[in-house]
Amino acid sequence: MKVKAERTVNEAQTVVASAGSNVYISGAADERYSRQILFAPIGTQGQHKLAERSVSIIGMGALGTVLANHMVRAGVGKVRIVDRDYVERSNLQRQMLYDEEDADLALPKVIAAERKLKRINSSVSIEAIMADVTPANVLEFIENTDLVLDGTDNFQTRFLLNDACYHEGIAFVYGGAVGSRGMSAIFVPGLTPCLRCLIPSADSGGETCDTVGVISPVVDLVASYQSAEALKYLIGDDKARRDSLISFDVWNNHQHMLKLGQPRDNCPCCGLNKYPALEREGEATISLCGRDSVQIAGHPPFDLHVWAQKLEKAMPNLKMNPYLLRGFLPEGERLVLFADGRVLVQGTADPARARTIYARYIGG
Ligand SMILES: [Zn+2]
Repeated sequence: MKVKAERTVNEAQTVVASAGSNVYISGAADERYSRQILFAPIGTQGQHKLAERSVSIIGMGALGTVLANHMVRAGVGKVRIVDRDYVERSNLQRQMLYDEEDADLALPKVIAAERKLKRINSSVSIEAIMADVTPANVLEFIENTDLVLDGTDNFQTRFLLNDACYHEGIAFVYGGAVGSRGMSAIFVPGLTPCLRCLIPSADSGGETCDTVGVISPVVDLVASYQSAEALKYLIGDDKARRDSLISFDVWNNHQHMLKLGQPRDNCPCCGLNKYPALEREGEATISLCGRDSVQIAGHPPFDLHVWAQKLEKAMPNLKMNPYLLRGFLPEGERLVLFADGRVLVQGTADPARARTIYARYIGG
């Protein structure tokens, strides 16, 4: 009886609370964002600003999925997501928008993410682009956007984003995570230093998530720091902007803030008006892509049905979906053909070996 009585009291309180909310808040959109609107620095005005803003998230792995989740739930008007990869089982430990079915179907990350994000908030416009971000196309992916969010896992692409953003005068929120360590900062052209001012060379010391691993909590923390800066920037709360590079280690319990200070006079982007990563157009069609995986770009788009017929004798276990074709080679490696013309050779980290396999099955 006692339990029942308590429940009745709680139910009554809930009814009162929601009746109160209905008076105070009008419209389904306001109800959805009511807790965010109650947060004074955002308020109704900030919420309306978010609805008018757009972000581009480059990379939809561990960081990107958390970033997209936050941006879409917060009600940012347009969210563009860009990624070149498809979902695999090893992603599920930390890439929070994906599930086992996505991995079984080998869905492109942007397609799987778009489905989830639309279910989370149907009022946000999601633009999903499956592509490899290169010096030749990076500007397309950051155009007409208010803010670029770094969801990448390598310094080569990060520097490319940094240079492209500073070239176009678009703010860029950097984030990186490896092992149990993470760091994040927001860079605003004309106001703050850029990534190159802080880290002149793109050397990760050989430590990547593919060599030393990464735990999920540190990824969530980094992406949450990034998301908080994104919200501040998008509603124009400049006074709240964090003016330091935050770095931390959640396993060994360290935290450090490095004041950003002024842009360096001799920084290519901030001082010399040069954007080194953008100038490498046309370079390197072959790249290491995680552990034991080599990507070869440069082939025209593949007609996957035609290629399935060509390869089915050599690869009797071929699997195809509308975005890619993959299967095991008799040599032991796995070959993945993407509709956009990229080829992934998995099971080797040797570019020469990958070239040999490419020549054998694709040609050229
Ligand atoms: Zn700089």
